[in-house]
Amino acid sequence: MQRITILGATGSIGVSTLDVLARHPEKYQVHALSAHGRVDQLAAQCRQFRPARAVVGTPEAAERLRALLRAADLPTEVGHGEQALCEIASCAETDTVMAAIVGAAGLAPALAAARAGKKILLANKEALVMSGQLFMDAVHGNGAVLLPIDSEHNAIFQCLPRSYARSPGGAGVAKIVLTASGGPFLKRAVDTLGAVTPEEACKHPNWVMGRKISVDSATMMNKGLEVIEAHWLFGAPAAQIEVVIHPQSVIHSMVSYVDGSVLAQLGNPDMRTPIAHALAYPERIDSGVAQLDLTAVGTLQFEQPDLARFPCLALAFEALEAGGTAPALLNAANEVAVQAFLDKRIGFRDIDRVIARVMHENGHHAAASVEAVLACDARARAAALAIVDALAC
Ligand code: NAD
Ligand code: MG
Repeated sequence: MQRITILGATGSIGVSTLDVLARHPEKYQVHALSAHGRVDQLAAQCRQFRPARAVVGTPEAAERLRALLRAADLPTEVGHGEQALCEIASCAETDTVMAAIVGAAGLAPALAAARAGKKILLANKEALVMSGQLFMDAVHGNGAVLLPIDSEHNAIFQCLPRSYARSPGGAGVAKIVLTASGGPFLKRAVDTLGAVTPEEACKHPNWVMGRKISVDSATMMNKGLEVIEAHWLFGAPAAQIEVVIHPQSVIHSMVSYVDGSVLAQLGNPDMRTPIAHALAYPERIDSGVAQLDLTAVGTLQFEQPDLARFPCLALAFEALEAGGTAPALLNAANEVAVQAFLDKRIGFRDIDRVIARVMHENGHHAAASVEAVLACDARARAAALAIVDALAC
Protein backbone atom coordinates (compact mmCIF):
# COMPACT_ATOMS: atom_id res chain seq x y z
CA MET A 1 0.00 0.00 0.00
CA GLN A 2 1.42 3.39 -1.01
CA ARG A 3 0.26 6.09 1.44
CA ILE A 4 -0.33 9.42 -0.27
CA THR A 5 -0.59 13.07 0.76
CA ILE A 6 -2.16 15.41 -1.79
CA LEU A 7 -1.28 19.08 -1.38
CA GLY A 8 -3.87 21.07 -3.34
CA ALA A 9 -6.47 18.27 -3.47
CA THR A 10 -9.31 20.54 -4.61
CA GLY A 11 -7.46 21.88 -7.66
CA SER A 12 -7.43 20.56 -11.18
CA ILE A 13 -4.38 18.30 -10.54
CA GLY A 14 -5.65 17.26 -7.11
CA VAL A 15 -9.00 16.14 -8.51
CA SER A 16 -7.32 14.24 -11.37
CA THR A 17 -5.03 12.54 -8.84
CA LEU A 18 -7.98 11.39 -6.72
CA ASP A 19 -9.67 10.11 -9.88
CA VAL A 20 -6.66 7.87 -10.62
CA LEU A 21 -6.35 6.74 -6.97
CA ALA A 22 -10.03 5.77 -6.85
CA ARG A 23 -9.38 3.29 -9.69
CA HIS A 24 -6.78 1.41 -7.59
CA PRO A 25 -7.95 1.19 -3.97
CA GLU A 26 -5.87 -1.95 -3.47
CA LYS A 27 -2.63 -0.06 -4.26
CA TYR A 28 -3.08 3.42 -2.77
CA GLN A 29 -4.36 4.85 0.47
CA VAL A 30 -4.93 8.59 0.97
CA HIS A 31 -3.17 9.73 4.14
CA ALA A 32 -3.83 13.48 3.96
CA LEU A 33 -5.53 16.10 1.78
CA SER A 34 -5.12 19.88 1.68
CA ALA A 35 -7.12 22.75 0.24
CA HIS A 36 -6.91 26.49 0.67
CA GLY A 37 -10.50 27.69 0.71
CA ARG A 38 -12.94 25.18 -0.81
CA VAL A 39 -14.01 23.55 2.42
CA ASP A 40 -17.19 21.92 1.10
CA GLN A 41 -15.30 20.24 -1.74
CA LEU A 42 -12.58 19.08 0.65
CA ALA A 43 -15.21 17.68 3.04
CA ALA A 44 -16.74 15.68 0.17
CA GLN A 45 -13.28 14.33 -0.71
CA CYS A 46 -12.76 13.36 2.95
CA ARG A 47 -16.07 11.50 2.97
CA GLN A 48 -14.99 9.53 -0.11
CA PHE A 49 -11.31 8.87 0.72
CA ARG A 50 -11.34 8.94 4.56
CA PRO A 51 -7.85 10.49 5.07
CA ALA A 52 -6.30 10.56 8.54
CA ARG A 53 -5.56 14.30 8.21
CA ALA A 54 -6.84 17.35 6.33
CA VAL A 55 -5.32 20.83 6.17
CA VAL A 56 -6.90 24.15 5.14
CA GLY A 57 -5.72 27.77 4.95
CA THR A 58 -7.22 29.49 7.99
CA PRO A 59 -8.51 28.71 11.52
CA GLU A 60 -12.04 29.67 10.37
CA ALA A 61 -11.88 27.22 7.45
CA ALA A 62 -10.57 24.56 9.86
CA GLU A 63 -13.54 25.10 12.20
CA ARG A 64 -16.01 24.75 9.32
CA LEU A 65 -14.30 21.61 8.07
CA ARG A 66 -14.31 20.07 11.57
CA ALA A 67 -18.05 20.66 11.84
CA LEU A 68 -18.69 19.06 8.44
CA LEU A 69 -16.53 16.04 9.26
CA ARG A 70 -18.13 15.61 12.70
CA ALA A 71 -21.54 15.56 11.03
CA ALA A 72 -20.28 12.79 8.74
CA ASP A 73 -18.83 10.91 11.72
CA LEU A 74 -15.29 11.02 10.31
CA PRO A 75 -12.22 10.87 12.58
CA THR A 76 -10.07 13.00 10.19
CA GLU A 77 -7.79 15.33 12.15
CA VAL A 78 -7.96 18.93 10.85
CA GLY A 79 -5.12 21.48 10.82
CA HIS A 80 -4.44 24.79 9.11
CA GLY A 81 -1.58 26.88 7.77
CA GLU A 82 1.90 26.35 6.41
CA GLN A 83 3.29 24.36 9.31
CA ALA A 84 0.44 21.86 9.10
CA LEU A 85 1.06 21.55 5.34
CA CYS A 86 4.75 20.84 6.02
CA GLU A 87 3.75 18.19 8.56
CA ILE A 88 1.47 16.24 6.23
CA ALA A 89 4.19 16.47 3.54
CA SER A 90 6.93 15.05 5.76
CA CYS A 91 5.34 12.79 8.41
CA ALA A 92 6.29 9.14 8.80
CA GLU A 93 2.75 8.00 7.89
CA THR A 94 3.06 9.12 4.26
CA ASP A 95 5.24 7.68 1.47
CA THR A 96 4.31 9.85 -1.51
CA VAL A 97 3.48 13.55 -1.77
CA MET A 98 1.60 15.02 -4.70
CA ALA A 99 2.76 18.67 -4.72
CA ALA A 100 -0.15 20.37 -6.51
CA ILE A 101 -0.53 23.70 -4.72
CA VAL A 102 -0.37 26.58 -7.19
CA GLY A 103 2.44 29.14 -6.91
CA ALA A 104 5.03 30.04 -4.30
CA ALA A 105 2.70 28.92 -1.49
CA GLY A 106 3.68 25.35 -2.39
CA LEU A 107 7.42 25.81 -1.85
CA ALA A 108 7.66 25.18 1.91
CA PRO A 109 5.66 21.91 1.96
CA ALA A 110 7.38 20.61 -1.21
CA LEU A 111 10.76 21.31 0.40
CA ALA A 112 9.62 19.64 3.61
CA ALA A 113 8.78 16.51 1.58
CA ALA A 114 12.20 16.62 -0.09
CA ARG A 115 14.00 16.99 3.24
CA ALA A 116 12.02 14.05 4.64
CA GLY A 117 13.15 11.87 1.70
CA LYS A 118 9.66 11.30 0.29
CA LYS A 119 8.63 10.29 -3.21
CA ILE A 120 7.52 13.67 -4.60
CA LEU A 121 5.20 13.98 -7.58
CA LEU A 122 5.89 17.56 -8.63
CA ALA A 123 3.15 19.54 -10.35
CA ASN A 124 3.94 22.79 -8.50
CA LYS A 125 6.57 24.02 -11.00
CA GLU A 126 6.78 27.45 -9.30
CA ALA A 127 8.48 25.83 -6.26
CA LEU A 128 11.29 24.46 -8.42
CA VAL A 129 11.58 27.65 -10.52
CA MET A 130 12.05 29.71 -7.35
CA SER A 131 14.49 27.53 -5.50
CA GLY A 132 16.19 25.48 -8.30
CA GLN A 133 19.51 24.25 -6.95
CA LEU A 134 18.37 24.39 -3.30
CA PHE A 135 15.40 22.16 -4.06
CA MET A 136 17.46 19.67 -6.09
CA ASP A 137 20.08 19.58 -3.30
CA ALA A 138 17.34 18.81 -0.76
CA VAL A 139 16.10 15.99 -3.01
CA HIS A 140 19.52 14.45 -3.59
CA GLY A 141 20.83 15.05 -0.06
CA ASN A 142 17.93 13.24 1.58
CA GLY A 143 17.28 10.34 -0.76
CA ALA A 144 13.98 11.77 -2.02
CA VAL A 145 12.64 10.67 -5.41
CA LEU A 146 11.40 13.46 -7.66
CA LEU A 147 9.00 12.55 -10.47
CA PRO A 148 7.66 15.24 -12.80
CA ILE A 149 3.90 15.61 -13.27
CA ASP A 150 4.01 18.51 -15.71
CA SER A 151 3.07 16.69 -18.92
CA GLU A 152 6.13 17.96 -20.84
CA HIS A 153 8.61 16.97 -18.15
CA ASN A 154 6.90 13.67 -17.55
CA ALA A 155 7.19 13.03 -21.30
CA ILE A 156 10.90 13.92 -21.29
CA PHE A 157 11.45 11.71 -18.24
CA GLN A 158 9.83 8.85 -20.17
CA CYS A 159 12.07 9.53 -23.21
CA LEU A 160 15.33 9.55 -21.24
CA PRO A 161 17.19 6.33 -20.34
CA ARG A 162 16.86 5.06 -16.75
CA SER A 163 20.60 5.68 -16.27
CA TYR A 164 20.23 9.38 -17.14
CA ALA A 165 19.96 10.65 -13.55
CA ARG A 166 23.34 9.13 -12.74
CA SER A 167 25.24 10.43 -15.81
CA PRO A 168 23.31 13.11 -17.70
CA GLY A 169 26.39 13.99 -19.78
CA GLY A 170 26.88 10.42 -20.92
CA ALA A 171 23.41 9.75 -22.28
CA GLY A 172 24.00 11.27 -25.73
CA VAL A 173 21.24 13.86 -25.35
CA ALA A 174 21.59 16.69 -27.87
CA LYS A 175 18.44 18.66 -27.09
CA ILE A 176 15.33 18.68 -24.97
CA VAL A 177 12.35 19.84 -27.02
CA LEU A 178 9.40 21.19 -25.02
CA THR A 179 6.18 21.35 -26.98
CA ALA A 180 3.69 24.16 -26.35
CA SER A 181 0.13 24.47 -27.58
CA GLY A 182 0.49 28.24 -28.00
CA GLY A 183 -2.65 28.74 -25.89
CA PRO A 184 -5.86 30.50 -26.87
CA PHE A 185 -4.16 33.51 -28.53
CA LEU A 186 -1.79 31.76 -30.91
CA LYS A 187 -3.53 33.17 -33.98
CA ARG A 188 -5.23 36.27 -32.56
CA ALA A 189 -4.08 39.63 -34.03
CA VAL A 190 -1.33 40.93 -31.70
CA ASP A 191 -2.79 44.46 -31.61
CA THR A 192 -6.04 43.10 -30.12
CA LEU A 193 -4.36 41.24 -27.22
CA GLY A 194 -4.58 44.28 -24.93
CA ALA A 195 -8.36 43.91 -24.81
CA VAL A 196 -8.72 40.18 -24.05
CA THR A 197 -10.69 39.23 -20.92
CA PRO A 198 -9.73 36.76 -18.14
CA GLU A 199 -12.50 34.46 -19.40
CA GLU A 200 -10.98 34.40 -22.92
CA ALA A 201 -7.48 33.87 -21.50
CA CYS A 202 -8.67 30.93 -19.36
CA LYS A 203 -10.29 29.15 -22.31
CA HIS A 204 -7.43 26.81 -23.19
CA PRO A 205 -7.91 24.95 -26.48
CA ASN A 206 -6.69 21.52 -25.23
CA TRP A 207 -6.39 21.39 -21.42
CA VAL A 208 -8.74 22.14 -18.51
CA MET A 209 -6.62 23.70 -15.75
CA GLY A 210 -6.62 26.15 -12.83
CA ARG A 211 -6.96 29.84 -13.66
CA LYS A 212 -3.37 30.88 -12.92
CA ILE A 213 -1.75 28.26 -15.15
CA SER A 214 -4.38 28.97 -17.83
CA VAL A 215 -3.32 32.63 -17.99
CA ASP A 216 0.33 31.50 -17.93
CA SER A 217 -0.45 29.35 -20.98
CA ALA A 218 -2.03 32.31 -22.77
CA THR A 219 1.10 34.48 -22.19
CA MET A 220 3.39 31.44 -22.65
CA MET A 221 4.96 32.24 -19.28
CA ASN A 222 3.92 28.67 -18.51
CA LYS A 223 6.38 27.44 -21.14
CA GLY A 224 9.00 29.86 -19.79
CA LEU A 225 8.57 28.42 -16.27
CA GLU A 226 8.78 24.95 -17.82
CA VAL A 227 12.10 25.78 -19.52
CA ILE A 228 13.51 26.67 -16.09
CA GLU A 229 11.87 23.58 -14.59
CA ALA A 230 13.50 21.40 -17.30
CA HIS A 231 16.87 22.98 -16.60
CA TRP A 232 16.73 21.89 -12.95
CA LEU A 233 15.06 18.51 -13.43
CA PHE A 234 17.30 17.33 -16.25
CA GLY A 235 20.48 19.36 -15.67
CA ALA A 236 20.30 20.83 -19.18
CA PRO A 237 21.74 24.27 -20.01
CA ALA A 238 19.38 26.84 -21.58
CA ALA A 239 21.05 26.37 -24.97
CA GLN A 240 20.03 22.70 -24.97
CA ILE A 241 16.34 23.43 -24.34
CA GLU A 242 14.13 24.30 -27.29
CA VAL A 243 10.47 25.29 -27.41
CA VAL A 244 8.31 24.25 -30.37
CA ILE A 245 4.67 25.18 -30.84
CA HIS A 246 2.50 22.14 -31.49
CA PRO A 247 -1.16 23.22 -31.36
CA GLN A 248 -2.64 19.70 -31.08
CA SER A 249 -0.87 18.88 -27.74
CA VAL A 250 -0.54 15.23 -28.77
CA ILE A 251 3.25 15.08 -28.59
CA HIS A 252 3.91 16.09 -24.97
CA SER A 253 7.64 16.69 -25.52
CA MET A 254 10.72 15.11 -27.11
CA VAL A 255 14.37 14.29 -26.57
CA SER A 256 16.85 14.57 -29.50
CA TYR A 257 19.96 12.39 -29.32
CA VAL A 258 23.39 13.00 -30.89
CA ASP A 259 22.86 10.16 -33.39
CA GLY A 260 19.84 11.95 -34.88
CA SER A 261 17.20 9.89 -33.05
CA VAL A 262 14.26 11.77 -31.58
CA LEU A 263 12.13 10.09 -28.90
CA ALA A 264 8.70 11.53 -28.18
CA GLN A 265 5.90 10.69 -25.78
CA LEU A 266 2.38 10.95 -27.20
CA GLY A 267 -1.08 10.72 -25.71
CA ASN A 268 -4.42 12.41 -25.34
CA PRO A 269 -4.08 15.69 -23.42
CA ASP A 270 -5.26 14.48 -20.00
CA MET A 271 -3.17 14.97 -16.84
CA ARG A 272 -4.26 11.59 -15.48
CA THR A 273 -1.64 9.99 -17.79
CA PRO A 274 1.44 11.65 -16.20
CA ILE A 275 -0.16 11.33 -12.75
CA ALA A 276 -0.69 7.56 -13.19
CA HIS A 277 2.80 7.20 -14.67
CA ALA A 278 4.45 8.87 -11.67
CA LEU A 279 2.27 7.10 -9.10
CA ALA A 280 3.05 3.66 -10.43
CA TYR A 281 6.61 4.25 -11.69
CA PRO A 282 8.38 2.09 -12.76
CA GLU A 283 5.21 0.06 -13.37
CA ARG A 284 2.14 1.13 -15.36
CA ILE A 285 -1.47 1.37 -14.22
CA ASP A 286 -4.75 2.29 -15.89
CA SER A 287 -5.36 6.05 -15.70
CA GLY A 288 -8.85 6.19 -17.16
CA VAL A 289 -7.51 8.04 -20.24
CA ALA A 290 -8.71 6.76 -23.62
CA GLN A 291 -6.12 5.34 -26.00
CA LEU A 292 -4.80 7.87 -28.53
CA ASP A 293 -6.36 7.52 -31.99
CA LEU A 294 -3.82 9.10 -34.35
CA THR A 295 -6.03 8.68 -37.40
CA ALA A 296 -8.72 10.73 -35.63
CA VAL A 297 -6.12 13.44 -34.87
CA GLY A 298 -5.03 13.33 -38.54
CA THR A 299 -2.47 16.15 -38.61
CA LEU A 300 0.31 17.19 -36.27
CA GLN A 301 1.65 20.73 -36.80
CA PHE A 302 4.76 22.50 -35.53
CA GLU A 303 6.01 26.08 -35.63
CA GLN A 304 8.53 28.39 -33.98
CA PRO A 305 7.26 30.54 -31.10
CA ASP A 306 6.98 34.25 -31.93
CA LEU A 307 8.72 36.11 -29.10
CA ALA A 308 7.09 39.44 -30.07
CA ARG A 309 3.69 37.83 -29.46
CA PHE A 310 4.92 36.02 -26.34
CA PRO A 311 7.48 38.28 -24.57
CA CYS A 312 7.06 36.30 -21.33
CA LEU A 313 8.88 33.37 -22.91
CA ALA A 314 11.90 35.59 -23.65
CA LEU A 315 11.80 36.96 -20.08
CA ALA A 316 11.95 33.44 -18.67
CA PHE A 317 14.99 32.53 -20.82
CA GLU A 318 16.58 35.78 -19.62
CA ALA A 319 15.94 34.86 -15.96
CA LEU A 320 17.40 31.38 -16.49
CA GLU A 321 20.57 32.85 -18.06
CA ALA A 322 20.87 35.41 -15.24
CA GLY A 323 20.59 32.66 -12.59
CA GLY A 324 20.60 33.19 -8.81
CA THR A 325 17.35 34.72 -7.58
CA ALA A 326 16.34 36.04 -11.04
CA PRO A 327 13.85 33.16 -11.63
CA ALA A 328 12.31 33.86 -8.19
CA LEU A 329 11.88 37.54 -9.21
CA LEU A 330 10.28 36.47 -12.48
CA ASN A 331 7.94 34.04 -10.75
CA ALA A 332 6.80 36.43 -8.02
CA ALA A 333 6.19 39.29 -10.46
CA ASN A 334 4.24 36.91 -12.70
CA GLU A 335 2.04 35.67 -9.84
CA VAL A 336 1.15 39.24 -8.85
CA ALA A 337 0.56 40.37 -12.45
CA VAL A 338 -1.60 37.35 -13.32
CA GLN A 339 -3.75 37.84 -10.20
CA ALA A 340 -4.15 41.55 -11.08
CA PHE A 341 -5.21 40.57 -14.61
CA LEU A 342 -7.69 37.97 -13.27
CA ASP A 343 -9.06 40.69 -10.93
CA LYS A 344 -9.43 42.97 -14.00
CA ARG A 345 -7.07 45.56 -12.50
CA ILE A 346 -4.62 45.47 -15.43
CA GLY A 347 -4.80 44.40 -19.08
CA PHE A 348 -3.36 41.24 -20.63
CA ARG A 349 -0.41 43.06 -22.21
CA ASP A 350 0.42 44.68 -18.87
CA ILE A 351 1.42 41.25 -17.50
CA ASP A 352 4.72 41.10 -19.40
CA ARG A 353 5.36 44.82 -18.77
CA VAL A 354 5.03 44.38 -14.99
CA ILE A 355 7.37 41.36 -15.02
CA ALA A 356 9.98 43.08 -17.23
CA ARG A 357 10.03 46.15 -14.99
CA VAL A 358 10.35 44.10 -11.79
CA MET A 359 13.18 42.09 -13.32
CA HIS A 360 15.05 45.08 -14.71
CA GLU A 361 14.54 47.44 -11.76
CA ASN A 362 15.45 44.96 -9.00
CA GLY A 363 18.82 43.36 -8.50
CA HIS A 364 19.17 39.63 -8.27
CA HIS A 365 21.67 37.79 -6.12
CA ALA A 366 23.01 34.33 -5.47
CA ALA A 367 20.22 32.00 -4.30
CA ALA A 368 22.30 31.04 -1.27
CA SER A 369 19.47 29.92 1.01
CA VAL A 370 15.72 29.40 1.03
CA GLU A 371 15.48 32.51 3.23
CA ALA A 372 17.28 34.56 0.53
CA VAL A 373 14.87 33.23 -2.11
CA LEU A 374 11.84 34.05 0.04
CA ALA A 375 13.17 37.57 0.75
CA CYS A 376 13.60 38.11 -2.97
CA ASP A 377 10.09 36.76 -3.58
CA ALA A 378 8.68 39.25 -1.04
CA ARG A 379 10.59 42.20 -2.55
CA ALA A 380 9.47 41.30 -6.07
CA ARG A 381 5.83 41.02 -4.95
CA ALA A 382 5.95 44.46 -3.34
CA ALA A 383 7.58 45.97 -6.43
CA ALA A 384 5.08 44.30 -8.76
CA LEU A 385 2.12 45.44 -6.64
CA ALA A 386 3.36 49.04 -6.74
CA ILE A 387 3.55 48.89 -10.54
CA VAL A 388 0.10 47.28 -10.73
CA ASP A 389 -1.36 49.97 -8.43
CA ALA A 390 0.10 52.72 -10.64
CA LEU A 391 -1.23 51.04 -13.82
CA ALA A 392 -4.67 50.41 -12.30
CA CYS A 393 -5.43 54.01 -11.35
P1 NAD B 1 -5.78 24.99 -9.19
O1 NAD B 1 -5.90 26.46 -9.04
O2 NAD B 1 -6.85 24.24 -9.88
O3 NAD B 1 -5.59 24.34 -7.74
C1 NAD B 1 -4.67 24.84 -6.82
C2 NAD B 1 -4.75 24.09 -5.49
O4 NAD B 1 -3.85 24.75 -4.58
C3 NAD B 1 -6.13 24.12 -4.84
O5 NAD B 1 -6.34 22.90 -4.15
C4 NAD B 1 -6.03 25.25 -3.83
O6 NAD B 1 -6.87 25.08 -2.71
C5 NAD B 1 -4.57 25.19 -3.41
N1 NAD B 1 -4.03 26.50 -3.02
C6 NAD B 1 -4.16 27.67 -3.70
N2 NAD B 1 -3.53 28.67 -3.04
C7 NAD B 1 -3.01 28.12 -1.93
C8 NAD B 1 -2.28 28.66 -0.81
N3 NAD B 1 -1.94 29.95 -0.73
N4 NAD B 1 -1.90 27.81 0.17
C9 NAD B 1 -2.22 26.49 0.12
N5 NAD B 1 -2.94 25.94 -0.91
C10 NAD B 1 -3.32 26.74 -1.91
O7 NAD B 1 -4.36 24.73 -9.88
P2 NAD B 1 -3.93 23.50 -10.81
O8 NAD B 1 -4.26 23.79 -12.22
O9 NAD B 1 -4.36 22.21 -10.20
O10 NAD B 1 -2.34 23.63 -10.71
C11 NAD B 1 -1.62 23.24 -9.56
C12 NAD B 1 -0.13 23.23 -9.88
O11 NAD B 1 0.11 22.25 -10.87
C13 NAD B 1 0.37 24.56 -10.46
O12 NAD B 1 1.67 24.79 -10.00
C14 NAD B 1 0.40 24.31 -11.94
O13 NAD B 1 1.37 25.08 -12.62
C15 NAD B 1 0.74 22.83 -12.00
N6 NAD B 1 0.29 22.15 -13.22
C16 NAD B 1 -1.05 22.07 -13.49
C17 NAD B 1 -1.48 21.43 -14.65
C18 NAD B 1 -2.95 21.29 -14.96
O14 NAD B 1 -3.29 20.65 -15.96
N7 NAD B 1 -3.85 21.85 -14.19
C19 NAD B 1 -0.53 20.91 -15.54
C20 NAD B 1 0.81 21.00 -15.23
C21 NAD B 1 1.22 21.62 -14.06
MG1 MG C 1 2.99 21.66 -18.77
